[in-house]
This record gives sequence, C-alpha cells and structure tokens, in this order.
Amino acid sequence: MNAPLNADANSPSPAVICSAKGCRAAAVWVLAWNNPKLHTPERRKTWLACDEHREHLSQFLAVRGFLKDVVPLAEWEARQERPPAAQ
Ligand SMILES: [Zn+2]
Repeated sequence: MNAPLNADANSPSPAVICSAKGCRAAAVWVLAWNNPKLHTPERRKTWLACDEHREHLSQFLAVRGFLKDVVPLAEWEARQERPPAAQ
C-alpha cells in the first residue's frame, strides 16, 4: 500500500503529530484501520491526524475498505488504559 504518510510515521516518537505527509501539526484524531489481507480481524492499525487531514486520511482508508473507526485522540487513549471487562 502506498500510503500518503510521513516517512517516519511508524517510528516511535514522543511527539504526537499528524501522520499525513509533510504535516507537523499536533494530532487530535486517531484513525483505526485493518487490512483484511494482512491483519487478523481484531487487529487495529492506527494513523494520527490533525483536524485538517482527518478527512483526507480517512477517505484514503475508506475507499479501500480498511477504515474501522475515527476517534478523538483523548478518547482513544482513555480506551487503551481501560482494562477489558474489568469490575
Ligand atoms: Zn495534518
């Protein structure tokens, strides 16, 4: 897949910035996606997007049938911290 991303989009980085190519804006959205040819159904890959690129990146995934969810970054992080089926 020839993704329109920063070359370092998949590198660990302390800065939470948009994954769109050439964009250095702070990310405020998480795009959760899955490529059924590569990933098991439960697997979620994530891209980060600023307000400006949320539509562009989500369209890129949606036309390929990969897009699963678009979630505000704060909500996504809260989900990751929540233990599954606890309490
Ligand atoms: Zn951006």
